Amino acid sequence: AKRRGKGQVTIFKMALLDTVSRRVLLEQALHSALNDDQLEVWFQPIVDLNSGEVVNMEALSRWSLAGEFVPPEEFINIAEITGMIIPLGQQLFDKVGCALQELRVEHPNLQCNINLSVKQFRDRNLFTEITSCLNKYQLPTSAFHLELTESMVVETETDILPMMQKLVEHGLKFHLDDFGTGYSSLDRLNNLPFDTLKIDRSFVTSLGMGDDIMARNIINIGNELGLNIIAEGVETQVELDRLMDLGCSQIQGYYFAKPMPLSELKDWLYDKQH
Ligand code: C2E
Ligand code: CA
Ligand code: CA
Ligand code: CA
Repeated sequence: AKRRGKGQVTIFKMALLDTVSRRVLLEQALHSALNDDQLEVWFQPIVDLNSGEVVNMEALSRWSLAGEFVPPEEFINIAEITGMIIPLGQQLFDKVGCALQELRVEHPNLQCNINLSVKQFRDRNLFTEITSCLNKYQLPTSAFHLELTESMVVETETDILPMMQKLVEHGLKFHLDDFGTGYSSLDRLNNLPFDTLKIDRSFVTSLGMGDDIMARNIINIGNELGLNIIAEGVETQVELDRLMDLGCSQIQGYYFAKPMPLSELKDWLYDKQH
C-alpha cells in the first residue's frame, strides 16, 4: 500500500459502488477484519498549554481495506448497527492497554481517552472488560478515560447513570464529547458524573473566524460546573490564541499533532522531550 500523510483518511474507491452494495461489502469485510484482528488504533496527543505536557491522548480506530482507509465514522456506524462494536471495543481496549503499558515506562503519567458507543455502554460485561484489561497491563484505573458523546447521552433510552457510577467509583473518568452539538439540558448533564467537557471542533472553527459565542459559553459552563475543558480540532494559531484568552488550556488538534500509529507516537513524544 502506498504511504499516505499522517492521519489522512483518503476517499475510498468503493465510493463508486451504490450505497447498499458498499454497505453489504463493508459489513462482511469488517466481520473478517475483526476475526483476523486487523483493526489498528492510532493516537492523538492532548496538550496542556500551561505545562507544555501531553496530558493524555485519544485512541482512534483505523481500518484499512485493500490499501485504503475506511472513514471511521462509516465503519463505526456499521459496527454499532450490527453489534460488531462489542468485539471492536474489546480489541481496542486490549491494544490501548498494551500501548499504554509500554509508553508509561518513559511517560509514567500518560493516560488515554477511549470512545464508547451506546451499545457498548448497555453491555453488561463492559465493566469487567475494562477492569480486566487494566489489570492485565498493570495499569491504574486512572489510565483510561471514557468519552461519551453528548448526542448519545441525550438519545439513549437506557439509564446510563448506574454504569457510569460503577466505573467512576472504580476510578475511571468520563469526558463529554462533541459538547454543544447535542441539545442536552444542563440539569441532566449536571446530574451525570462527567469530569471533562470536550468542545466540538465546529465551535473551534467558528472561534477562528471571529464567532466565539459557543466556545465562550461552553468554557463558562465548564468552569461553573467545575469541569475540565478540552478543545478539539484546533488547527491554527488564531484558534489557539482565542482559546487561551477564553481560559481553555487543554488542546487537541492538528495544530500539535494528527492521530498517528504507536511507533510514530513514540518518536513524536521523544522529539518533544529533547
Ligand atoms: P471524535 O470522537 O469526535 O474524534 C475526533 C475526530 O476529529 C477524529 O476523527 C480526529 O482524527 C479528528 N480530528 C482531530 N483533530 C482534528 C483537527 O485539528 N482537524 C480536523 N479536521 N479533524 C481533527 P476520526 O479519527 O476520523 O474519527 C471520527 C469519529 O469516529 C470519532 O469522532 C468518533 O466518534 C468515531 N470513532 C473513532 N474511533 C472510534 C472507536 O474506537 N470507538 C468508537 N465508539 N468511535 C470511534
Ligand atoms: Ca472522541
Ligand atoms: Ca469529538
Ligand atoms: Ca465528532
